[in-house]
Amino acid sequence: MQYDVVSLTKALVEIPSVTRDSNVPIAEFLQALLSEAGWTIERTSYVDPNGETKVNLVAKLGEGPGGLAFCSHNDTVPGQEQDWPAFTPDIRDGVLYGRGSCDMKGPLAATIIACLSIDPATLRKPLYLVLTADEEIGLIGAKKLAKASEMLNRDRPEFGVIAEPTELIPVYSHKGYAMVSATATGRAAHVAMGTGESALFKVVPFLNDLVALDKELKTNPDYQDDIYTPTHHTINFVVDTGQAATNVTAPFATVTIGIRPMRSANSQDVYQRIIDLAQSYDLDVESDYLEPLFSPLDCELVQACERLTGKTPETVSYGTDGSYLGACIDQLVILGPGNIGVAHTVGEHIAVDALHAAVALYKSMIVELC
Ligand SMILES: [Zn+2]
Repeated sequence: MQYDVVSLTKALVEIPSVTRDSNVPIAEFLQALLSEAGWTIERTSYVDPNGETKVNLVAKLGEGPGGLAFCSHNDTVPGQEQDWPAFTPDIRDGVLYGRGSCDMKGPLAATIIACLSIDPATLRKPLYLVLTADEEIGLIGAKKLAKASEMLNRDRPEFGVIAEPTELIPVYSHKGYAMVSATATGRAAHVAMGTGESALFKVVPFLNDLVALDKELKTNPDYQDDIYTPTHHTINFVVDTGQAATNVTAPFATVTIGIRPMRSANSQDVYQRIIDLAQSYDLDVESDYLEPLFSPLDCELVQACERLTGKTPETVSYGTDGSYLGACIDQLVILGPGNIGVAHTVGEHIAVDALHAAVALYKSMIVELC
């Protein structure tokens, strides 16, 4: 193997894989690396709405069902290259800088190095690397992969590690994501004529109710779950009217509302109440509900992570590919090096020591669980 965790992280940062572009170059690099090491590769692809080809890879070492999967996305947010050399990795004072170093090419490299340093003859169960596209724009790659992967659906890994940065603290649950979009239709005309009909006027009463609901959710404990921070549903919405101008009545207005469902906070009720409210104002509704990720604190995987890290498992508020991959992996945790607080920033970085610590931890997980 010509790489260690640092040189592999640098090699991955040097292959730009911003979500708006195709991830074929980085996927081919990873595929070549793993097939050369003797792993079986399942490659599936799709064309995104911009016409870019996106590739998901599942690599497997060993035969049969069950085993342990390390899951990472290989896309990143844009580089903001005007402000820093995003794709030229640089190490200063023990810290590696570059786009994706923390979210999540560094953690991905740590999973690969750990997997490739294990003697395959010692494995009792199979080992997988699950490498997705398009995480940064709504987990699209994981959503496609959970449906398309014959290998994952047939062989069902028992344990999965989403290697997103958690500073190597095991995370046993995160909130889900639900979306309701409600559209009112009007008629565009010059306002001075008085013949138009503004769609915006039709959504305002609905928005008033939404503001009242938001207040209720913040104060009613029936809609809260104290394993998360914050404990309440955080609602956010945007309104799209196309190119509405002040002298033209809006021909349509679409309110898109995001909600973060929790494990035991009556989140399905909240979701249904928003849909019912929108329909009571005759708005056209589209909606989607993604469950939170949750592995019981006493399940084998969470227990093993707690023992091997010496850290109490926690929850986080952001989402991960785990929301979809849970359909084909039995138990999941989020556990990776780096601080999510520096992800998506200019100067994104990860400590070299954290990368080495992650490799050691992942190796001990393989020994214990595989
Ligand atoms: Zn990420």
